[in-house]
Amino acid sequence: MDSSNIADRAERQSGTLRDLERRAAYEAGRPLAAALTTAQADALRRWTLAAGPSRNTPAGDALRQLVDYVRKLIRDAFNGRGRQARRDAERAAYNAAQLGTRQASAIAAAMRGQPTPPVQPDIGDEAQAACDHIPTAIEEEQQGALALLTTAGLTAMGMAGLNSAFQRARRAVGRIARGMAVAVTSAAANGARLVARALGSGVRLLWVAEPDACAACRAYAGLHIRPGGLFPGGLSLDPRRTVFHTAIPGPPRHPHCRCVTVPWSPDWPVTGTPLPTLLRQRARTARRS
Ligand SMILES: [Zn+2]
Repeated sequence: MDSSNIADRAERQSGTLRDLERRAAYEAGRPLAAALTTAQADALRRWTLAAGPSRNTPAGDALRQLVDYVRKLIRDAFNGRGRQARRDAERAAYNAAQLGTRQASAIAAAMRGQPTPPVQPDIGDEAQAACDHIPTAIEEEQQGALALLTTAGLTAMGMAGLNSAFQRARRAVGRIARGMAVAVTSAAANGARLVARALGSGVRLLWVAEPDACAACRAYAGLHIRPGGLFPGGLSLDPRRTVFHTAIPGPPRHPHCRCVTVPWSPDWPVTGTPLPTLLRQRARTARRS
């Protein structure tokens, strides 16, 4: 098997991972997004009712009741969403771990010219931590939205204040997508790590940058570590934009990074340019900067 063939195949894994992540993030965020849309419509109706025909900002008791009512709407919209999103992320991470295991097994078999021993998929610690953080992230945005709903705030801003509270609440949907992205990419990387381990000593994990990777991720292309080791922090092809200083066990370098790692050994009978060199060259040419 030629190394350019292997590189093509490895780069295609990013697309599969991206599709899985996008679908899962959409599904996990949809219940909260829908609940907030309904709650906002209800809140605006209530506002219009309280304002009456003069359309002045409600005041006094009417405003206090309105604030209580909308705060309850928001709390209800968020109720149970943290647990649900974490469950959804765990499920997606498991699918990603399976995908990572399957892809790593197939690509290793192609390079070695013999079947890969079966490996039990597992999402790994990084993916689990990303899933576990989702309810906290959602709670932060809920508290941020509730903090905007005060009689003083609405007196000053009117109906725009109401809308900005919902805008703030909607950030939670973005936090779900972010947590999901980290969980999915980490779990896929863990799948590859387990395969590399199962293939025995001397087998490395090789970084494959996604085809339109950022300057930081492109600097990792072609680097390899032993499974269980760490890729160095602080790398970038554009040092002015280096922001990721921590050493990491594998992708993602940042949320929504869809780089992958594949098992690799210099002893495997792959023809052509050595795979690490080829991946490095590809990441440094004909890419978005
Ligand atoms: Zn990346």
